[in-house]
Amino acid sequence: MKASSRVRNLPTPSVQRLPVYLRFLKEARNRGDDVVSCTRIAEEFGQRSVQVRKDLAITGVSGRPKVGYRVDELIEAIESFLGWDVKTTAFLVGVGNLGRAILNYEGFVAHGLDVVAAFDANPTLFGQEINGRLVRPLDQIAATAERLRREEGRIVEMGIVTVPARAAQPVADKLVGIGVRAIWNYAPIRLDLPSDVVYEEVKLSASFAVLTNRLRRRDVAE
Ligand code: NAD
Repeated sequence: MKASSRVRNLPTPSVQRLPVYLRFLKEARNRGDDVVSCTRIAEEFGQRSVQVRKDLAITGVSGRPKVGYRVDELIEAIESFLGWDVKTTAFLVGVGNLGRAILNYEGFVAHGLDVVAAFDANPTLFGQEINGRLVRPLDQIAATAERLRREEGRIVEMGIVTVPARAAQPVADKLVGIGVRAIWNYAPIRLDLPSDVVYEEVKLSASFAVLTNRLRRRDVAE
């Protein structure tokens, strides 16, 4: 069976809640807790226990009745389910405000993300070093991927797109051309990609819209 046909489409909200549970579980482990109940997790996040149980079940771990989950086992299961227990080698294209913020953010490293090189089209940025990564011309992308494969045996699996919308599709095409299997797109445009490339868009404005809508509805209710 091909890997792609084995991938089930799991409920995105459940997957998105797992990192939040993971953070809580790591805090519990630091406090010395060995087990944690579903009810306790549910209370912490204002969820129903049945929802938490369902969310956690997608990792393949189930809690013991009246005891709960073994914290270590659950942390391991979530990290493995999310693929955060393995390194993901990535290239980033577009070293502007957002690209720099991602390169400077250490939090993703803990989730296995290793952005090994950054590319841009602006010659004034070439040779700059951002948190240990040199900014390279975009036309060196294929050669850089090839050198990484030859010298370090590393395959670039993910492309992070942080260029303006008008440049995003050609940049994504280049990333697909070097063989990435995942695109993390921050540009406000839907990209057209081969079906075997997994794709996720980041939409800060959608999150902001939800927040401002809640804020204004609260104003009306008060
Ligand atoms: P920016 O203008 O500061 O940076 C863009 C960078 O891309 C520049 O360095 C530019 O030289 C480079 N670039 C332009 N065309 C290129 C090309 N063809 N090849 C390689 N590099 C190229 O912009 P920013 O504020 O960092 O925003 C970057 C993108 O992220 C934009 O599309 C913006 O709309 C988007 N954005 C998304 C979110 C979100 O929630 N997803 C939030 C903020 C910004």
